Amino acid sequence: MDKASETSSCITRSAYEENRIIADEMQGLVLNPQKPSVLLHACCGPCATSCVERLAPDYAVTVYYYNPNITDREEYYLRRDTLKHFIDEFNRENGDLYTVGFLEGAYEPEKFIEKADPLRDEPEGGKRCDVCFAMRLKETARMAARLEMQYFTTTMSVSPHKNYEKIKSLGSMLEEEVSAGFLDVDFKKQNGFGRSVELSKKYGLYRQNFCGCEYARAAMELGK
Ligand code: SF4
Repeated sequence: MDKASETSSCITRSAYEENRIIADEMQGLVLNPQKPSVLLHACCGPCATSCVERLAPDYAVTVYYYNPNITDREEYYLRRDTLKHFIDEFNRENGDLYTVGFLEGAYEPEKFIEKADPLRDEPEGGKRCDVCFAMRLKETARMAARLEMQYFTTTMSVSPHKNYEKIKSLGSMLEEEVSAGFLDVDFKKQNGFGRSVELSKKYGLYRQNFCGCEYARAAMELGK
């Protein structure tokens, strides 16, 4: 995408975001009115697969793509489009039973870099990641409350590299601040990660080989 179209797509995105919130979010709720609603933060398509599969029978799920930590713009849109592809396919297969909504947050990597750059030398799983989890989960909690949804949670726990206790303690703290509750599910349990690998293959999804930020990519390239 050239610079001009990037700029124009940013402007367009923010201009119709409100309508899209209503359209996509309501798709999940109107078609599943009897179920409790959950805003499921997702970092990418592969991680979302087994989490969506687990929640959809019992919850009206809307997937929320808010990931300022994906500092490379091209990578950000590749992961977003992979996620949307999965949701479209999932809905096509399961539309008679449940429909999953999709919502995209603002793309603001500069906010992430401002907070994370002082922690650039931290290893994956260290303090930089704590800041990153907090930033994404806080925004998810805020959006869930704004949309009057009952719960919020995140697919991040499906990764064997992510510490669920940290995510849970953050979620519990945030639910004290907003009207939505933290849905306490460690998605890596019950073979959640293995199932995400299976489903990613089934749907032909792009699977990245680094977590998301430029610091993680540099570490991966250096073989750290
Ligand atoms: S390694 Fe992953 S979790 Fe940690 S700061 Fe980077 S993107 Fe966030």
